Amino acid sequence: MRLALEAPDDHSVDPRLVLAALRRACETTEVRLREHAPVMRIECAGGVNGDGMQITAVELEGGELVAARQVVIAAGPWSGGLEGLPDRARVPVRPVKGQLLRLRDPAGPGLLERVVRFEGGYLVPRADGRYVLGATVEERGFERHATAGGVYELLRDAHELVPGVSELQIEELCVGLRPGTPDNVPVIGPGAIEGLMWATGHYRNGILLAPLTAELVAGALAGESPAPFPAACRADRFVAVTA
Ligand SMILES: Cc1cc2nc3c(=O)[nH]c(=O)nc-3n(C[C@H](O)[C@H](O)[C@H](O)COP(=O)(O)OP(=O)(O)OC[C@H]3O[C@@H](n4cnc5c(N)ncnc54)[C@H](O)[C@@H]3O)c2cc1C
Repeated sequence: MRLALEAPDDHSVDPRLVLAALRRACETTEVRLREHAPVMRIECAGGVNGDGMQITAVELEGGELVAARQVVIAAGPWSGGLEGLPDRARVPVRPVKGQLLRLRDPAGPGLLERVVRFEGGYLVPRADGRYVLGATVEERGFERHATAGGVYELLRDAHELVPGVSELQIEELCVGLRPGTPDNVPVIGPGAIEGLMWATGHYRNGILLAPLTAELVAGALAGESPAPFPAACRADRFVAVTA
């Protein structure tokens, strides 16, 4: 038996357009973006193995020290590996590979009007005849090759539900790494060191949860108290794992 559920209030955004809008918003305010400036180390002072320690700066590639009393770690699957933090203050984040296809109907929109979600994937129509077909979920560490098996897996299930998908042109095959925690729930909120804030581990929902995460983190940085961080997202739930 087959069943379908219609959810007319389900919406989608194009993450590339969201990022472009975010960049523009930063550029028109006083946010200073430092691109291609990887953080090599977090600098902390005082205390022992996390107790009584305070964030003081981040060190960029090339040695430049940027003084900071508050640091938000939002480095995706690389968040757990940043140098400088004591073991007790780390959170475990792993990369989870995902492949997706960007497709295009040269005849324009019309094949689908709504997002179709099915076991193993989703097909998202954009307004201009483009479609996103995602996504594989693969535990392969930091390996990020596009594979024939990935494309097969994506098309196999989508074609069964929407046969017209086979006629679409392939524009792009994207491979990305999702940040996943051991329970696949994000880590949002203060860390074990004064001034340390986490916003990572969003796994398959980092775009969906970005506005909520930003609101919570920005509120806490601005001193709004008490910060209503969800208990399920606490950083200290992994203390035993990292130890
Ligand atoms: C195929 C695929 C499909 C997906 N589909 C969806 C979806 O439909 N809906 C949804 O909500 N989410 C989806 N996601 C998940 C979403 O993309 C992630 O949850 C989100 O990108 C996580 O955002 P982030 O900013 O935490 O990490 P990232 O996007 O990984 O960004 C981390 C950034 O930190 C930078 N960085 C790393 N180390 C350092 C350092 N030392 N110094 C400075 N910068 C550093 C990296 O270069 C990167 O730019 C999908 C992911 C994939 C791969």
